Amino acid sequence: MTPLCDTHSHIFDEAFDADRAEVVDRARETGLDRIILPAIDSESHPRLLETLEQYPYICRGAMGVHPTSLTAENIDAELAEVARLLDCGVEWVAIGEIGLDYYWSREHVEAQHRALRCQLEWSLERALPVIIHTRDAWDDMAALLEEYSGRGLRGVMHAFCGTIEHYNRIRRTGDWVFGIGGVVTYKKGGVAEVVAQMDLRDLVLETDAPYLTPVPFRGRRNEPAYVIHTAHRIAEILGKDISHVVTQTRINTTRIFGI
Ligand SMILES: [Zn+2]
Repeated sequence: MTPLCDTHSHIFDEAFDADRAEVVDRARETGLDRIILPAIDSESHPRLLETLEQYPYICRGAMGVHPTSLTAENIDAELAEVARLLDCGVEWVAIGEIGLDYYWSREHVEAQHRALRCQLEWSLERALPVIIHTRDAWDDMAALLEEYSGRGLRGVMHAFCGTIEHYNRIRRTGDWVFGIGGVVTYKKGGVAEVVAQMDLRDLVLETDAPYLTPVPFRGRRNEPAYVIHTAHRIAEILGKDISHVVTQTRINTTRIFGI
């Protein structure tokens, strides 16, 4: 079978400090040959860099600042650190994760928008794809990306949970794939109904480890090896063979990230 790729995993998180090497070993045994690690913020960038250095044969990194880490006070320092690390010699496969998150708080929405636009511009200047996080902000995200239509944006809409209208609006604005994770295995959430109407050529697999663990491991810490359960669920929803889902999602991953 085509090797699997977890396109979104935070195995540099402290949740993996006790057994990171075993987690990587289990991923390889399950057939993964790539794990993409999206950055969060200046507090965790050192751990990200260390993890990339430790597992160069499987891990690839993305550099950016996550919307929930931003405030009006820290935005300039966070962006300066991203800019510095983009030039530190690491071969980043994307800028991310970046985006809009209105779920926890709307207090720093302005900072989120400014940082997102700034990092989208950097992705265009550097010809890098982006990894975009969106929570409770799909209308604003679709509208913002529509402003960039035709400028050559490309990347992943991570943890996609918008409507079919959001999907159709966003895919017209650039070269996008949509990250599908453990949520598609949950009975509630509505993601499965939307995935049923999506084109397999637009999907990539992800875990968002340590969060959003797929069934049958829901409730436990998530890890890259579990990405196969999401692939099985997508195969079931689309009525396709598992090997076809793994192969096509890998082709999609290569199209965006070149890996
Ligand atoms: Zn993430």
